[in-house]
Amino acid sequence: MTDISITRLNASQNDFDSELARLLAWDDSVDQSVNESVRHILHQVKTRGDAAVLEFTEKFDRLKVGSVAELEISQERLQQALNAIPEDQRIALEKAADRVRDYHERQNQKSWQYEDQDGTVLGQKVTPLDRAGLYVPGGKAAYPSSVLMNAIPAKVAGVSEVIMVVPTPDGVVNDMVLAAAAIAGVDRVFCLGGAQAVGALAYGTETVPAVDKIVGPGNIFVATAKREVFGTVGIDMIAGPSEILVICDGQTDPDWIAMDLFSQAEHDEQAQSILISPDGDFLNAVEKSINALLPTMERADIIRTSMTDRAALIQVADLKEAAAVSNRIAPEHLELSVENPNEMLEDIRHAGAIFMGRYTAEALGDYCAGPNHVLPTSGTARFSSPLGVYDFQKRSSIIGFTAPGADRMGRVASVLARGEGLTAHARSAEYRVKD
Ligand code: NAD
Repeated sequence: MTDISITRLNASQNDFDSELARLLAWDDSVDQSVNESVRHILHQVKTRGDAAVLEFTEKFDRLKVGSVAELEISQERLQQALNAIPEDQRIALEKAADRVRDYHERQNQKSWQYEDQDGTVLGQKVTPLDRAGLYVPGGKAAYPSSVLMNAIPAKVAGVSEVIMVVPTPDGVVNDMVLAAAAIAGVDRVFCLGGAQAVGALAYGTETVPAVDKIVGPGNIFVATAKREVFGTVGIDMIAGPSEILVICDGQTDPDWIAMDLFSQAEHDEQAQSILISPDGDFLNAVEKSINALLPTMERADIIRTSMTDRAALIQVADLKEAAAVSNRIAPEHLELSVENPNEMLEDIRHAGAIFMGRYTAEALGDYCAGPNHVLPTSGTARFSSPLGVYDFQKRSSIIGFTAPGADRMGRVASVLARGEGLTAHARSAEYRVKD
């Protein structure tokens, strides 16, 4: 096996800015044929409901049944799956679920109110969504951890009904995914995938209820469909390829760092793994580890492509500069593999999740640490946050004027409304003003 040649950058080089920009760029263009195909599927599902869902499920998942009701998995079947999986898997899922629940319970938002000097009541009422749709990918692999990470925050938020869809190509159901749904308290599960599943959740069909928001990852057909139905329903985000950025002071075992970089690179060819260190010898040592460990990896081909095309080893002057470069990248996952991660934390401004210290492997965050693994990618950590309970709740403003309050603020509103030429607004406020 030939060695991988990994991009090397130095923050002091003259063209560092342009080289960094080139490294971060990725092809997010969607083939026109995918757009057209997804629009066609969505239109069919919107106008023909169950009949279209059945047709596309037969076509893309090779699953032929007489009705969409037959594609629903009962709660008894979910429990059966929970009982059928090996005990160590069941215990691991339950442990992970407990920690995810415990963490997310702390995110619950509370309604609040206050009174001003006139006795006017102002506040914010927090209400969970009525129904959330959860897409769980299932075309090529199964993702029970996705079930936990998406469904548990919804249930903690108080969503009344969580409807999960998961494709089951050729009718093959994954028991671990169903077991995770049972543990997370998913209310209904349909064996549906792709754009047709997203359409069914967005528009509703005779059998699949329409939801208020669709969350969860998926392939290009799923992502494109989510983008299309946004506005009819809410969506969580359109995720780009996975990313990890490790900042290391040079004192961690290079094999650990190499494997942490692999843990993202193995996701897909476009995943990005970056290591930043002030220690050039350490960058060499990690590169050596990467090439020594690569042949031992099951997904060596994907890792090789991802690391050849998108990985980088970046040398900086010191950890301050490492933090500054990291902030420019705003990575999805950031490992601070340094002696004093708390000290560095102050300098970190943009990252989806921050993994503190040498013992905190990003992989733990993917499964069982507790925080959500659905994180902003492609630099969007500059303005967005991990999936959480707040994504399944919304806020209504509360405004309640007393007579003295209506008098005082009515005069203000009247002036502003007349300034805008909106006479009905002005008179409506003035009716409640004394004399
Ligand atoms: P999937 O469930 O996303 O897609 C399968 C569906 O795609 C099928 O049911 C089918 O309806 C549809 N489809 C396939 N070919 C089609 C075609 N030619 N025309 C129209 N529809 C078609 O499962 P997958 O394909 O295995 O993809 C899973 C994706 O989820 C991957 O891209 C993976 O990286 C991503 N993922 C991301 C995360 C994350 O947290 N970001 C986690 C897990 C998975």
